Amino acid sequence: MHRALALFPLLVGWVAPAWGGPLAVVTSSTDLKALVEAVGGDRVRVESLAPAIHEPHAVEVKPSQLAELKSAVLLVRIGLDHEPWLPRVLQTLSDPRFAPGSPHYLETWKGIRLLQTETPRLRADRGVHLHGFGNTHYWLDPGNARPMTGAILGALSRLAPADSPSFEANRKRFLEQLDARLGRWTQAMAPYGGTRVVVAHETWPYFAERFGLKIVAALEPTPGVPPSPSYLAKLTQQMREAGIKVLIAEPSSSASLVNEVAIRSGARVVTLIPSVGGNPEAGDYLALFDLNIKRLAETLAAGR
Ligand SMILES: [Zn+2]
Repeated sequence: MHRALALFPLLVGWVAPAWGGPLAVVTSSTDLKALVEAVGGDRVRVESLAPAIHEPHAVEVKPSQLAELKSAVLLVRIGLDHEPWLPRVLQTLSDPRFAPGSPHYLETWKGIRLLQTETPRLRADRGVHLHGFGNTHYWLDPGNARPMTGAILGALSRLAPADSPSFEANRKRFLEQLDARLGRWTQAMAPYGGTRVVVAHETWPYFAERFGLKIVAALEPTPGVPPSPSYLAKLTQQMREAGIKVLIAEPSSSASLVNEVAIRSGARVVTLIPSVGGNPEAGDYLALFDLNIKRLAETLAAGR
């Protein structure tokens, strides 16, 4: 056999497993994992570096996950300053495939209309993520799943061109389901349009914009920075005066802080799930919104 031909399967193996197994993909979050699975179907095997429940800005990556990343053909991440823990991981790995411009590396924020880009850029010291380029929790507007899965479709199709029609069909089916649910979610939230809420972390601006809520303050004066007692005193007084009835917490929020603010302000607490798998009922991307809309609508209805 000609030497070049003998080498060919090895070169193909770089991109797609020569034995036709699923593409190994690593994502930075469970939400991205869910979206890659929605497009890739049984042609992908996806692992998330972050667990479903974690602080918005801190993830501990295990050595076994480094090994997974090493053997993956694609890394998908939120990008911007959302994962301040990831550059160190990539530095340790030192794999030139996982860098901007490579077909093995995808940041899904391109094509998204970012919110809060006017936030002053601050030094990301102590590893906190500060939304310095705009708010990075953009997967929480279900409308953004369209450009995000579009980018994922492009990346998967480049790595496995033969599977591209199946990826396209999967995405089309997913978007049809998404559009149908979006109609229901919008309808469920319609009676509560304009409701003012306070949030624990600035996780929800995309969600709030989509479903007509108005976020007036966060318990963290700056994303990733805990509040001082004087900030809390002022905030709870303002909440009482302005009649803010709802406080949106998440599983990683400090329960004692959330309870204190609820008691002092008189607001009801609703715990929303920011990431797929953060609750057994939020097992995939669509179920995540089913659960959050249900919880929110119940809380808002009870407050009337
Ligand atoms: Zn954040």
